[in-house]
Amino acid sequence: MRAEPLEFAKGAALLGDEEIDALAAVIRSRSLFRYRGDHAVGTVADFERGVCEALGCEYAVAVANGTAALRCALAALGVGRGDEVVVPAFTFIATVNAVLVAGAVPVFCEVDDTLGVDPDDLAAKITERTAAAIVVHIENVAADLDRVLAVATPRNVPVIEDAAQAFGATYHGHAVGTIGALGAFSLQQEKNITSGEGGVVTTDDEWLYLRAARYQDQGGQFVTSYMGGRGDELTEPFVGENLRMGELAGAVAGVQLGRMPGLLASLRRNKARIVKAVGDIPGLVRRRRPDPEGDGSSSITWFLPDAPAAKRVAAAVRAEGVPAAQMYRGRPVYLSPSFRASYPAGLCPRTEALVARSVIVPVGVGYSDDDCDDVARAVRKVACRVLT
Ligand SMILES: *Cc1c(COP(=O)(O)O)cnc(C)c1O
Repeated sequence: MRAEPLEFAKGAALLGDEEIDALAAVIRSRSLFRYRGDHAVGTVADFERGVCEALGCEYAVAVANGTAALRCALAALGVGRGDEVVVPAFTFIATVNAVLVAGAVPVFCEVDDTLGVDPDDLAAKITERTAAAIVVHIENVAADLDRVLAVATPRNVPVIEDAAQAFGATYHGHAVGTIGALGAFSLQQEKNITSGEGGVVTTDDEWLYLRAARYQDQGGQFVTSYMGGRGDELTEPFVGENLRMGELAGAVAGVQLGRMPGLLASLRRNKARIVKAVGDIPGLVRRRRPDPEGDGSSSITWFLPDAPAAKRVAAAVRAEGVPAAQMYRGRPVYLSPSFRASYPAGLCPRTEALVARSVIVPVGVGYSDDDCDDVARAVRKVACRVLT
């Protein structure tokens, strides 16, 4: 179908002169560290204020990466040894790594046909040791937060939103990452907006904000931000890490933040065109979206009738020159080798069966109408062949 490769980058595809100019200004200031420097541009603090405005939250702390954002969120809640944290069985491994590094025990929960946490199984996985639950908004599609919070809130379990893959996506009109107790975002190269490496923690709770802000700066040992200034609210330092963002990353992140509305508009237009052109094919079932309006639209996921059909479709679409895959190899995190000794196969049987039947096709911000039509034609051709 296609000889020319499709470039499906998101914010990274939009990097340009504005980012270069912002970087040059930081270098001219000779202040690359966010908390020191006579002529500091203050890009990281500006980015934090910009995030609050763009997403509609009270506080934001920019950090080194998305995993660091999760670490800060867990530390802000005081999660540590002896605690359990419920995590979805289907996610990027960083969600689980952050819990393990905090010294807590990940408890895997089923995902449903939204690929988000199954609220009924979440209810079953909460114990008296549960210190937090993490929901993940996989590929810019919000998990069903109303149903998750209806389970977690009465049981006093704070919800962290891992919104690493969903900067700017919304759920019933609210930005994901601003609905639970804390949100964690990534600005890694493949995410919606990027500074190569980068992350943000968001919250509306001042205490959680202060804890997160101190945690990323050695627990408040030396200088600590209060939206760019210094805060004396927590006078005693605690054990933290260095997870700070530098001014160079802040400069790029700030420009990329301004590109977010245009980025999402392009992704949404391209996804809608592809979905419409693929049309309805019996046996090809779209992933359910709790709020289709809010979809950040970075990809399309379908479920096939069985795992072999899904593998064949992914491989055959790729053979047509169109990117397609089984996300995370079509298996839950705990089936990856590093977890096998502690978690048995069959732990979350519904997730194992569901994700093995999934196929994902990315959507590029720079796709032309012809590119979108090529993607749709390849999916249609292959699906019709495999399913009849
Ligand atoms: C990318 C990602 C992370 C980690 O972000 P980094 O910036 O790579 O550390 C965490 N959770 C999910 C779901 C991700 O996709």
